[in-house]
Amino acid sequence: MTDILIIGGGPAGLTAAIYAARAGKSVIVCERECLGGQIAQAHRVRNYPGFSDISGIELGDAFCAHAMDAGAQIEFTSVQSLKKEADGTFTVLTDDGTIEALAVIFAGGAKPRLLGADRETELVGKGISYCALCDGEFYRDKNAAVVGGGNTAVSDAVFLADICRSVTLIHRRNDFRAEKADLEILKKMPNVSILTPYTVQDICGKDCVEELKLSEAQTGKAEILQVSALFVALGRVADCALIKDMAELDESGYVLTGADCSVKMPGLYVAGDCRAKGIRQLTTATSDGTVAGIAACNYIDHI
Ligand code: NAP
Repeated sequence: MTDILIIGGGPAGLTAAIYAARAGKSVIVCERECLGGQIAQAHRVRNYPGFSDISGIELGDAFCAHAMDAGAQIEFTSVQSLKKEADGTFTVLTDDGTIEALAVIFAGGAKPRLLGADRETELVGKGISYCALCDGEFYRDKNAAVVGGGNTAVSDAVFLADICRSVTLIHRRNDFRAEKADLEILKKMPNVSILTPYTVQDICGKDCVEELKLSEAQTGKAEILQVSALFVALGRVADCALIKDMAELDESGYVLTGADCSVKMPGLYVAGDCRAKGIRQLTTATSDGTVAGIAACNYIDHI
């Protein structure tokens, strides 16, 4: 029996782990993919206080090392189900066995939003990617495109411009959600083109991505762009299926919580990008982790 089981080893989960472990609780963090979560895929992070410019991997590693130093145990495993027992404890079934816990913090983050184009899923790994940092090197000296207008899209395009022959950023509006400072860096790169307002209509190629059929959003004018890769950076969607019966979700699938990150199931807390909130940033994820970690400790101290 562990005191607190945390599902998700991103910034929210690891911050919760730091607070709970430092409060003397036994803590297990279950992560199925990569520690650091979404931030580990960010090329550079320039808006986390104290670090004016750091790679996402370095920052994610630092979060992880800090959680382990504080005493948290990290398990690389996928959580299959979560059940509240009659005695008030939680039973968590993972790929590697069962863990029992007094309280659970769900910090499962979100998964990439798909473009929805025909052949998108079929061509994953054959030119379609959702992670520039992971797959960019496969397209060294090739022509690549990025679709999206947020921080991820712009940061991916900056990263790819140093690897690829050319990078075209395609966005459906003329205005970007991305931070202006990063957009200005991108605009100055000699091998980068920005196409707005354009949408990707079709992904074409025999066995791999060879060209994209684009459409000008206002006039519908068609255009062909020859590229070997399309990096899809359209944000993320919440992945809360695991706790859907224990918490209320909003219409977009995000978990509605109290100010202390609690949900209707006592002893369950939700932190990070999967939580319904106005602003999803690294700093708001670590803020949620702080609140959920402290709230889970208080819950255990009073049961
Ligand atoms: P995001 O901010 O939600 O941006 C998603 C982009 O995709 C938007 O420009 C959106 O267009 C576009 N989009 C969504 N669905 C689309 C569709 N079906 N077809 C075409 N375009 C579509 O996502 P993100 O860039 O991944 O960022 C997620 C969060 O992480 C943000 O809060 C961001 O600031 C943060 N982040 C921070 C850093 C950093 O600090 N270094 C790095 C990466 C991410 P519209 O604008 O038209 O809606």
